[in-house]
Amino acid sequence: MSNASAGGARAAYVYSDQLARHSYGDAHPMKPIRLQYTFELARAAGFLNGGDIQVIAPRPATLEELALFHDPEYIAQVKSIGEGRFTGEEIAYGFGPGDNPAYPGMFEAHSLASGGTMLAAELVASGRFQVAFNPAGGLHHALPRRASGFCVFNDPVLAIRKLVAQGMRVVYVDIDCHHGDGVQHGFYDSDQVMTISVHESGRFLFPGTGDVTEIGVGRGEGYSINLPLAPYTDDLIYAASFDAIVPPLIRAFKPDVLFTQLGIDTHMGDPITHMRLSTQGFTDTVAKLAQLGGECGRWIATGGGGYDMSAVARGWAMAFAVMAGKQIPSRLPESYRGPDGPRTFADAPDMPLNPDIRREVQAFADRSVEDLRKLTFRRFGL
Ligand SMILES: [Zn+2]
Repeated sequence: MSNASAGGARAAYVYSDQLARHSYGDAHPMKPIRLQYTFELARAAGFLNGGDIQVIAPRPATLEELALFHDPEYIAQVKSIGEGRFTGEEIAYGFGPGDNPAYPGMFEAHSLASGGTMLAAELVASGRFQVAFNPAGGLHHALPRRASGFCVFNDPVLAIRKLVAQGMRVVYVDIDCHHGDGVQHGFYDSDQVMTISVHESGRFLFPGTGDVTEIGVGRGEGYSINLPLAPYTDDLIYAASFDAIVPPLIRAFKPDVLFTQLGIDTHMGDPITHMRLSTQGFTDTVAKLAQLGGECGRWIATGGGGYDMSAVARGWAMAFAVMAGKQIPSRLPESYRGPDGPRTFADAPDMPLNPDIRREVQAFADRSVEDLRKLTFRRFGL
């Protein structure tokens, strides 16, 4: 784990309350207010204190930046529907009742979330900070002409494209419970960016993709890595599978920058997924990414999915504590008033899984790891 008190990790937290104010609608699982809870918890716990740590407000992404991945026609549509002009055409761009409702201020909210990630990338690329965290980013499903899975603009692709244009090689690691399909799509034929997605198998969960056999095309062949896991995957099975695949590939690729999408919808309390991680299991993974980010010297981190509000606030506050090298206390600060949930950062131990089910979950993970090694490791001398 990184340790700021010893090494002085310069860490930026990209945030303003503006990011938490928009709403997808009361019945929608994506609640931007979770970003405010996360920030308030990190602040109350003292994770934002210290000379090497700064909270920096985001700026909106420019139209030119949005066009690094999205069609100008789509960008114009997002703007127009966000202003309440509905023509019926919005359905063709993925908007409508359901996952991607159109709402007032949508363009501004999503430009700001994307701009936060562009800023995080600038802060790290310039050497001002070793790590920058934009919890509002990580909207990994958005496609060039289509909103998907609550995502309007694909900030990871936009920021990584800008880094690649500056000559940098990037590893993107996505630990969201859902496959990082939009980001994979953005770099499927590139050998400058390795995308690694660890997720619940598409056989059981949206968006249905992310099989081990999706390894990239052309120059990008071998640079797209997918590690699908079964429903009920717990901390232990997750950790062993992650360790077998992610660190060796990153070290073999030797990136200039590590970019991570830290979705926390793998949590056992998440209402729309089926994995069984705890906040501690999530944070252990973030600590491994911190080690890898430390090795390459530049680490950009974003949020992503996460629909159990207490788990989001606790898990992402813990993630930033890891980035900034802060000790995580056992109890939440008394002054913190967040969503209902445990008053400790770590979760109480989960109910033990039925042994037969656990064997199946383990076998599923072992199969994915073995297939992936066969398909991709030799290319990197592993
Ligand atoms: Zn997700």
